[in-house]
Amino acid sequence: MSHGQAGIARRVTGYLGVFTRRRLRRRGYRESKAADRWSEDELRAYHDGRLAELVRFAAARIPFYRDLYARAGVDVARFGGTADLHHLPTITKADLLRHGEQMIRPGIPELRIARYTTGGSTGTIATLAGARGIASLEQGCIDALWDRVGVHRRDRMVTLRGALLDDGRALSQYDRAERRLTISTYHLNDGNVPQIVRLIDDYRPAWLHVYPSAATLLANILQRTGRRLSCPLRGVLCGSEAVYPWQVQLFAEVYGGRTYAHYGHGESALLGGWCENAQTYHFLPNHGYVELLDDQQQPISTPDVSGEITGTGYLNRVMPLIRYRTADYGAWDQPGGCPACGRHHQRLARIDGRIQEYLTLADGTRFPATNINALHGMFFALIYRFQFAQQQPGRALLRFVPAVEMTPERLAEIRAAFAYLPAMGLELEFQPVSEIPYTISGKQRVVVTS
Ligand SMILES: [Zn+2]
Repeated sequence: MSHGQAGIARRVTGYLGVFTRRRLRRRGYRESKAADRWSEDELRAYHDGRLAELVRFAAARIPFYRDLYARAGVDVARFGGTADLHHLPTITKADLLRHGEQMIRPGIPELRIARYTTGGSTGTIATLAGARGIASLEQGCIDALWDRVGVHRRDRMVTLRGALLDDGRALSQYDRAERRLTISTYHLNDGNVPQIVRLIDDYRPAWLHVYPSAATLLANILQRTGRRLSCPLRGVLCGSEAVYPWQVQLFAEVYGGRTYAHYGHGESALLGGWCENAQTYHFLPNHGYVELLDDQQQPISTPDVSGEITGTGYLNRVMPLIRYRTADYGAWDQPGGCPACGRHHQRLARIDGRIQEYLTLADGTRFPATNINALHGMFFALIYRFQFAQQQPGRALLRFVPAVEMTPERLAEIRAAFAYLPAMGLELEFQPVSEIPYTISGKQRVVVTS
């Protein structure tokens, strides 16, 4: 094939890609909205049907599940749905790391598979696979959640996150098709905050779409330097990390407008968001089925009791996740439909920080390790895994397994990314190590106290 032909082929593929992405995004939106009207009985029947179909499909088509269920003595022909889920073994991120390839349905052309990595906040990076376009389907589901607070598809949006743009050379990036300006809070400090404020004000977004940690960082600096955004915001849309009540309050004070949050996780089994008038997480039934499990992996049904959020995802048919333990914790809301909106979606009253994930600052404050801004972006390009070790308040050791040669320049870059922590009350030491041990259950802790 000549260069010219290759160019045409690429353009044609690109064009079809855009069309397919739009179609999938509309489908995700449509299916998510349709579920708003389902009764409790309809929802139960829907989950029973989806679960039974998915479990049989996985057992028949995917080597990992066939072996897992055979070893556990599960007869999938008798599996009837939600009531039988507890007969199936759970899986964790350790399974993704050890058996990732066996979890992918064989026989799918590589061209039709999108591979993506996940793992930021648990310190372990796993590769997942899904059908091409799965991200658009997921975005359509998020559109349906955002629709609840009046976000329109064409609204201008500024995304704030602590990532490096163009290897750290750019402070912002504009996506014309999405009408979205992404601003990196990676190098944000008191000195360059006027530049960020000007970027946001000049763009006049209706919404800030934020990693709560990034929006917190900016809000803290705005407060400290006595600045405010002058553009009128309709609100702050939080994603990617748990959002804490103190952050909701901070965003209302500093940015104004309303704050909305949704919960998803890198492996994309589950997606839930607040409704119009309640700050509880309504999980989209068409996206997946939620369970909460205690330490012995027994289902929790009592409201307000914290358990591990465990999900079975319906969107991914290339690498399905069935009873996937997310390592996130949460608690059920009261049973019955939501008093604020009447939806019968599965509902969590809160998403807790991950267990063992707190660092103690010099003044005794417990700080969620996942709120450390530098734990996104560049750091992950250089390492495989990390872990904090803390023995006394205000001091911690950050161990990490380098993925590239750890030159003095790279080590300096890592130090610089965490350089804002001492001012918050945390002195950090850095230690490249060759391995970080797992716990007996195969988990990796983000914070250890020894
Ligand atoms: Zn509601």
